[in-house]
Amino acid sequence: MLKKLFQSFRPPARVQHHIRTTPEVINHSQHSLQRHQFSRHAVNIVERLQSAGYQAYLVGGCVRDMMLGITPKDFDVATSATPEQIRAEFRNARVIGRRFKLVHVHFGREIIEVATFRANHPVDEEENSHQSSRNESGRILRDNVYGTLEEDAQRRDFTINALYYDPVSERILDYANGVHDIRNRLIRLIGDPTQRYQEDPVRMLRAVRFAAKLNFGIEKHTVLPIRQLAPMLREIPAARLFEESLKLFLSGHAADTFEMLVDLQLFDPLFPASAQALEEHPTYTHTLISQALINTDLRVRQGKPVTPAFLFAALLWPALPGRALYLQSRGMPPIPAMNEAAHELIFEQCQRIAIPKRFTLPIREIWDMQERLPRRSGKRADLLLDNPRFRAGYDFLLLRESAGEETDDLGQWWTDYQECNESERREMIRELGGRDEGTGAGPRKRKRSPSKRRRADGGAGE
Ligand code: ATP
Ligand code: MG
Repeated sequence: MLKKLFQSFRPPARVQHHIRTTPEVINHSQHSLQRHQFSRHAVNIVERLQSAGYQAYLVGGCVRDMMLGITPKDFDVATSATPEQIRAEFRNARVIGRRFKLVHVHFGREIIEVATFRANHPVDEEENSHQSSRNESGRILRDNVYGTLEEDAQRRDFTINALYYDPVSERILDYANGVHDIRNRLIRLIGDPTQRYQEDPVRMLRAVRFAAKLNFGIEKHTVLPIRQLAPMLREIPAARLFEESLKLFLSGHAADTFEMLVDLQLFDPLFPASAQALEEHPTYTHTLISQALINTDLRVRQGKPVTPAFLFAALLWPALPGRALYLQSRGMPPIPAMNEAAHELIFEQCQRIAIPKRFTLPIREIWDMQERLPRRSGKRADLLLDNPRFRAGYDFLLLRESAGEETDDLGQWWTDYQECNESERREMIRELGGRDEGTGAGPRKRKRSPSKRRRADGGAGE
């Protein structure tokens, strides 16, 4: 799989990887796109802008996906009109954004994003510029510099994202050999890869995201600088990385994405504690995270809801035991050590990826549930069943078992318990006898032999 993803195809003829000043024009008869496949509202916006005298095209992901026979998530329009000029054309338009000023045109629940052509930064004119700025490592901090269509193509990330479709003439404008790369299934940065990653390190994550989503290879020059530049992701605001990590892990291709992130050393700057767990307990950590992501992918593809809390709970879980054990070695009792470890781990993770409170609380609840699921005596089992977080906690238990954690068949017990009637449940509780771990007050004392507690790869600890 990885081999396939990183495969790099040698271009058949001399292919220009940089931008053309005149585009290759692909006429209606030479491509498979049809106007009516695109959102009617997006097409109307383009027509309206064009008749007002502006240039306007459908652009980016929607053109790329359409060429690949994938239903686009949304439809973006690029135009020579400024945000104010766009707003003047549409009653239902709102200017949004600070980093990128954009216009959202609303049609009921559909929102079409209309963006003015932008230019890359002219490096030497930057000193006194108010519209654009970079930090010392070359990262772009603001870029509201309007530009021409050619410049707009040049500042886009990948060749396959720089295709412009005019639904009126039904022609595609290709400035960066994007059609060639779509046909050869390659992710290729426009321009010098190192410079483009330095401008915006998130492009490294985007390369991985598109490679996984489209099942494309990453072209060799595009993949080459990534391992070295990966630490630059530490400079990216944690809020942006949260948004980006949702796209990485909720796209339906999270399992492949994870493999590539690890291989390209991008996982470490995103999840430092988990990356460390991956080094210390590779088999266990890898199995647990992959299994969680495979399940997530399945749910996404079946259109079932997925909660980021469960996902982050799984991504971070392998880092938890080591910390709790360390705190215990400093004299903290097991349960407070576990709680403190959970608190520290989430706090540190939020420095990298700003997971909002509405997700960090459920992460803690899912983890707490792992402590409570073994304790089932008296009314405890029924109380747990009524807990709104039971389902997530139970699924998480099954996940841990699938990664080889020894739980004394606790998952099966809970599966049976849910399927039983009232009297059978009473019987199950009775049968627990001394096996239940919650009968004593305070932190439990384990009766099992130490060997049973050992995890698949030699013990990720308690
Ligand atoms: P999808 O929406 O399916 O994830 P997309 O290609 O539409 O994919 P968006 O994040 O919606 O991705 O961005 C829209 C377009 O804006 C991209 O196709 C690309 O041309 C451009 N773009 C987005 N992010 C960047 C970036 N960091 N650097 C350069 N260009 C970018
Ligand atoms: Mg998009």
